[in-house]
Amino acid sequence: MNTKETAIKLRKENPFLSLVDIAKELKVSKQRIYKILKDASLPTSSIKPRKAVYCLVCGKSTSGRKTCNECHFTYYFLRVNCAFCHIAFYKRRSVIIHNYNYGYNNIYCGRQCYYRGLRDKEISWSRNY
Ligand SMILES: [Zn+2]
Ligand SMILES: [Zn+2]
Repeated sequence: MNTKETAIKLRKENPFLSLVDIAKELKVSKQRIYKILKDASLPTSSIKPRKAVYCLVCGKSTSGRKTCNECHFTYYFLRVNCAFCHIAFYKRRSVIIHNYNYGYNNIYCGRQCYYRGLRDKEISWSRNY
């Protein structure tokens, strides 16, 4: 088996090998391997072994996502309390952060509480100043 065949065989059998690895194995230059693989229409870069990603909530390894399936909801939805009626509900983390960045620190369960909350604030303002 010549260099070319061996290189092709190695690539097919080991998608994680890099050009350098194959070149070392066959004791030829990286450029040589690159050309062989290119000519054979094979991927010249190695498939990156999937890095272990751990769930941000429970620490279990996931399939590349920030959280595992079970913790998806826990992570993306936060339990918050309505600033007006204090009922607990879940809201998307991104929405909370978005609102926070716009200066809306109070979270309301719905429009009704939102308007009531605003009214209350105005009352307390006029009381304080
Ligand atoms: Zn988890
Ligand atoms: Zn409410």
